Amino acid sequence: MHNKSLKELSHGLKNRDFSSVELTQEFLKRIKQHQDLNAYITVTEDLALQDALAADIRITNNQANPLTGIPVAQKDIFCTLNIKTSCGSKMLDNFKAPYNATVIEKFNLTGAVMLGKLNMDEFAMGSSNETSFYGAVKNPWNPNKVPGGSSGGSGAAVAARLAAYATGTDTGGSIRQPAALCGITGLKPTYGRVSRYGMIAYASSLDQGGPMTHSAEDAAIVLQTMAGFDPKDSTSVDISVPDYSATLNKPLTGLKIGLPKEFFSDELNADMAKKLTEAIDEYQKLGAEIKDISMPNLKLAIPAYYVIAPAECSANLSRFDGVRFGHRCANPVDLTDLYTRSRGEGFGKEVKRRILMGTYALSTGYYDAYYVKAQKIRRLISDDFKNALAEVDVIMGPVTPTPAFGIGEKMSDPVEMYLSDIYTIAINLAGLPAISIPAGFINDLPIGLQIIGNYFTEAQILNIAHQYQLITDWHKQTPKGFA
Ligand code: GLN
Repeated sequence: MHNKSLKELSHGLKNRDFSSVELTQEFLKRIKQHQDLNAYITVTEDLALQDALAADIRITNNQANPLTGIPVAQKDIFCTLNIKTSCGSKMLDNFKAPYNATVIEKFNLTGAVMLGKLNMDEFAMGSSNETSFYGAVKNPWNPNKVPGGSSGGSGAAVAARLAAYATGTDTGGSIRQPAALCGITGLKPTYGRVSRYGMIAYASSLDQGGPMTHSAEDAAIVLQTMAGFDPKDSTSVDISVPDYSATLNKPLTGLKIGLPKEFFSDELNADMAKKLTEAIDEYQKLGAEIKDISMPNLKLAIPAYYVIAPAECSANLSRFDGVRFGHRCANPVDLTDLYTRSRGEGFGKEVKRRILMGTYALSTGYYDAYYVKAQKIRRLISDDFKNALAEVDVIMGPVTPTPAFGIGEKMSDPVEMYLSDIYTIAINLAGLPAISIPAGFINDLPIGLQIIGNYFTEAQILNIAHQYQLITDWHKQTPKGFA
């Protein structure tokens, strides 16, 4: 059962080939068997079985939606009512959210069964899922390798079939990068497409939740539930949600694909370049036209992001002060002691580094030199995309510079770690949607192809991804030991 697509699962449930309780039990069993991956922070077994029972009744009463009764796992960044919501941090190790994120509400309403909460980099800061208070997540393709971050628990859980699908969030690549390194499909929607209400904020102008699934077809179904206007999120955009599954089979004849020369420079790993070229050849066979383009400001994305994201994080994380919720130090002598020790003990090293960088960039005297400058660069990068997307329908490129690297390999060198975001970050700065789909293997490790589209063209991106998945089977490969 655990290898079935969402469509097949929904069909099997409606047909009574298996019940939601049986399906849920199977995933719960697999989660126990593969605990060593460290993909989950919390498994909500009792609740999952209750939800499954309710889903079975709903299915019997013919009130099922496409996701009713199908087990999902949620990134532990989404607030879940009365359930631990840690965001991968010691700071929130004791935190049970008093409300549900809108995304969680939407899954509940549709009758999805939540298996638990997934491991992640602390406060979503990281590219390898090694900064979690709960320890590193292992890549199911090779347990000595990272799964990518920050949604590494989501990438590993879906690849290892420990959930039928998962959610992730992407501030600078955290859906696409683990999707690429774990060999699954991950879609970062347009900024404003999916509600951020109840999604613990890292960098509010960049954060966006999205689906992590086995295929584009599955992602279309999951996005259908996640997307939509939310009056509780002031940056949510009030435009209608199309039927994402309806256009998956549109032919790609005449599609214009842009390949930025900055993405395919000599710096790109030769094996990676070869695999991506093969994938792009498939698109030509499907009738697409390839155009070389240039986006001169892409190279500025990392420096601009690593000013803007820490600046926003330093403001967002100021709420964790030991007073209202989260970790509080023992026996504070006064208020300053309470703040400093609670924060000092609650936050990990990378989070502290980001808070320091952000506070510095926003301080009087440096604000114009760093923060304002970075915002100007952000505009230039957005304009590059605007110009490119006036010429072509979509842009393709790598997701990561290399396949998964070794656990521990980059932890002592933050700059080296930040450089692994080189192909994903610009998209967040521009607020555009992009998907990572499996596009082959290098040394038995999966790699991703990135497809970037214009604002709110998720349906088109999913269509383009799906057409490739109809003629390839990279997305159907299962890591050894997880079949
Ligand atoms: N790796 C990037 C960072 O550490 C992006 C993380 C994310 O998308 N949440 O900030």
